[in-house]
Amino acid sequence: MQLIDGKIASEAVKTRLAEAVKVLQDKGNRKPCLAAILVGNDGASETYIASKVRTCGQIGFLSNLIRFDAQVSEERLLEEVRKINTDSTIDGLIVQLPLPAHISAEKVILAIDPKKDVDGFHPINMGNLALGLPGFVSATPKGIMMLLEHFNIETAGKNAVIIGRSNIVGTPMSLLLSKNTNPGNCTVTLCHSKTKNLNSFIKQADIVVAALGRPESIVAEDIKEGAVVIDVGITRLDDSSAPKGYRIVGDVDFKNVAPKCSWITPVPGGVGLMTIAALMQNTFTAYLKNIEN
Ligand code: NAP
Repeated sequence: MQLIDGKIASEAVKTRLAEAVKVLQDKGNRKPCLAAILVGNDGASETYIASKVRTCGQIGFLSNLIRFDAQVSEERLLEEVRKINTDSTIDGLIVQLPLPAHISAEKVILAIDPKKDVDGFHPINMGNLALGLPGFVSATPKGIMMLLEHFNIETAGKNAVIIGRSNIVGTPMSLLLSKNTNPGNCTVTLCHSKTKNLNSFIKQADIVVAALGRPESIVAEDIKEGAVVIDVGITRLDDSSAPKGYRIVGDVDFKNVAPKCSWITPVPGGVGLMTIAALMQNTFTAYLKNIEN
C-alpha cells in the first residue's frame, strides 16, 4: 500500500505558486487576492476558512475575510458579493458553505461573477466543465485530479466508482474522471443514497472515491485487492481523549481498508489539503487573467 500524501502534493503546488507570484511581483505586479465570506460561527467552517486564509499568507497571496453574523439578510450578503464582483483588486471570491437556512446558497452562488468564482460552483463554470471548456473546476475534485497526477496513478480504462453525487464533489468528479484526459478515461459509475447493492459496485471498482459523508462506512470486505481509494469524507467525531475534544475521520475505514489498496488517501492529510491547494491554483489562474488585461 502506498499513501497518497496530500501534504507532499499540496506543498509542491504551494511552492510552485509562491515562486510564480514572486517572479510576477518582482516585475511590478500586485499580489493575487482571494476574498472569503463567512456567515455565522460554525466550528468546521471557521477551521476551513482559517486554513484558506493562512495558506494565502504562506504563498504570497492577499486575503480579505469578510464576516457576517448568522442573522445577516440575504440582500445584505448579495450586496457584498456584487461589491466584490466590481473590485478590480480582488481576483477570487468564495462564500463558505453551508449558509444559514434563511439564505439561498443558490442565489448567492449565482450572484458571484463566474470570472471570480474560484470555487467553481457557478452554473457557468459547471457548464464549462460538462462541455470540456475552460473554466474553474470545483476545488475538491480538481484537487483529487492533481493528487492522481502528482503520484502518477494510472486511471485510463479503470472502473471508477464515485459514492456521492453532490454538485461540489461527486458530480464534477464523475465528469473529470470520465474525460478523455490524463488522469481520466475511466469508466465511471456514480452512486448515491438510492443506489441498490452499493457494495456490489464498490467490489468491482479499481478506483473508489468516497464522498458520502458517512464516517468509516466504506469497509475492507467490499474493496477489491489493489484498488485506489480516495477518501473525501470529513466528519468530526466527539472524542474526549483527543486534545480538541473531537477527531476527524473520513468515509473509509482506513485501518482495515489500507492493507488491501495499492494507493489510499489518509484523513486528515489527504484530499482536504489538496482542496486548498486547488483553490489557490484557481485563484492564481484568475489573477493571471486580471493582470494580463
Ligand atoms: P452531500 O452534499 O451531503 O452529499 C452526499 C452524497 O452522498 C449525496 O449524493 C447522497 O446521496 C450520498 N449518500 C449519502 N448517504 C449515502 C449512502 N448510505 N450510500 C450511498 N450514497 C450516499 O455531501 P458533500 O458536500 O458532497 O460532502 C461529502 C463528504 O465530503 C462530507 O463528509 C464532507 O464533509 C466532505 N467534504 C470534504 C471536502 C474536502 O476538502 N476534503 C470538501 C467537500 C466535502 P443523495 O444525493 O441520494 O442524497
